[in-house]
Amino acid sequence: MNERRTIARVGQVKEITSLSNPIVKDVRGLQQKKHRDESGTFLAEGLKLVIDAFEQGWTIRTLIYAKAARGKPVVEEVAAKTVARGGLVLEVSEKVLTAITRRDNPQAVIAVFDQQFKPLSAIRPQDGETWVALDRVRDPGNLGTIIRTADAAGASGIILIGETVDPFSMEAVRATMGSVFSMPLARASAADFLAWKAKAGASIVGTHLKGSVDYRTIDYKSRPTVILMGNEQAGLPDDLAEGCDQLARIPQAGRADSLNLAIATGVMLFEARRHLLSFDEAQA
Ligand code: SAM
Repeated sequence: MNERRTIARVGQVKEITSLSNPIVKDVRGLQQKKHRDESGTFLAEGLKLVIDAFEQGWTIRTLIYAKAARGKPVVEEVAAKTVARGGLVLEVSEKVLTAITRRDNPQAVIAVFDQQFKPLSAIRPQDGETWVALDRVRDPGNLGTIIRTADAAGASGIILIGETVDPFSMEAVRATMGSVFSMPLARASAADFLAWKAKAGASIVGTHLKGSVDYRTIDYKSRPTVILMGNEQAGLPDDLAEGCDQLARIPQAGRADSLNLAIATGVMLFEARRHLLSFDEAQA
């Protein structure tokens, strides 16, 4: 409580109940890509996620919490840290939180962060590393799930190729379950990716329904690996497929034509992890 009083005294917690408040309007605007692109920011929901982000060095631009969360020590602590690092803290009504998140039962804490993309030129895959490259991924749920899965599989980061869904949309961020804060993301055109690949020293393993190599027999160890996944509808286009060192196939049973993109990415990443780590290391 004392901490909050200190913050409130210096006028840095704004109490807002009106949907027409300009700050609330700006934050609500972040539901749209146009506004996220213009501001270079995005919204993430949930106290745990906000704390994780803080711990990983992300800066909160605006912290928003429900009036009902006032006085909770952990919320007060995050609010104090936000103010200390130059951020804004808003205490809002349930109605405002619902409008911002478009959810009936919104999380009690949400926050606005700066987007972060790593320049492709700064990515230099090292031995033992596995990266993921995604060609024109369209579905935010797939992208969020892939970011979460890549994090869990120990991948080093994700390269988004071509016109992709926004990794910082609310739906994608929700699906990452916080891994958006720990997985480096880069963007590239197909041409830039192919030019980068020529110098990166990594083995590019494309995944393709007509791949000639069983994914279990790939050498994931002697060079860093980039696992390249195709678009949900169209699969990998010829130019990207031809740029791969190998095209891998995951043999399937049954009548399904293909695996879901996120599932296929998970299968590939955990196979690479199995090759890279001994059983004991994987358990640790
Ligand atoms: N109709 C698309 C096609 O012809 O490629 C299906 C695309 S699939 C839904 C999306 C991506 O997941 C594929 O481009 C590939 O990268 C990967 N994928 C799915 N099932 C796979 C499999 N059995 N073997 C290798 N890659 C697979």
